[in-house]
Amino acid sequence: MGDSSTAALIEGFCLGPFATNCYIVRDGNGTCWIVDASFEPQAMIRRVQELGDTPSAIILTHAHADHIAGLAEVKAAFPEAPILIHEAEASFLTNPVLNLSAGYGEPMTAPEADRLLKGGETLELGDSSWKVLHTPGHSPGGITLYCEAAKQALVGDTLFAGSIGRYDFPTSDGPTLFKSIQEQLYVLPDDVTAYPGHGPTTTIGREKRTNPFVRGE
Ligand SMILES: [Zn+2]
Ligand SMILES: [Zn+2]
Repeated sequence: MGDSSTAALIEGFCLGPFATNCYIVRDGNGTCWIVDASFEPQAMIRRVQELGDTPSAIILTHAHADHIAGLAEVKAAFPEAPILIHEAEASFLTNPVLNLSAGYGEPMTAPEADRLLKGGETLELGDSSWKVLHTPGHSPGGITLYCEAAKQALVGDTLFAGSIGRYDFPTSDGPTLFKSIQEQLYVLPDDVTAYPGHGPTTTIGREKRTNPFVRGE
């Protein structure tokens, strides 16, 4: 039995031309998740193999190209691991316009999802429980994975240290993004560590106090 208050072991990998953070989330007992799969995912794949962990899921915070470009390679390395994504972005995986790769002049598609999320689910990784929070705005199916016991949240491109996700893409929506941050993220305890899709980790409390784009109450 693990101690439920112990934080999961999270290893970040800054991958590809957009410096996208992808994460290995480990339960410490031989199982892990892979969260997001950017360009050039080899170092992350090698690390999982070196750890000897078995990925029980590949979870996508959202389906922009810089978070799914390495999905085929990751899935090929770990074919037993199901791909999970919010249902609002299931079609993004196979649509280069929606996943923004067409706009960058390198149209690409990725493997289809094995399981669709709606938000509100609880996913188990070993002894730890992670809540799926639907945090749209940067993209319609953006999710945050939140472990209350470990005080850790993987927030994708919704919130960054000192910044927030872009909301100028065709499928983005600014007011929806602000609402997600205020009503889903800033209600979490101040000492929750946030692991964003780009840039350094931060805490919910620090962003509530100092984020220049969305300030907490
Ligand atoms: Zn994005
Ligand atoms: Zn991104």
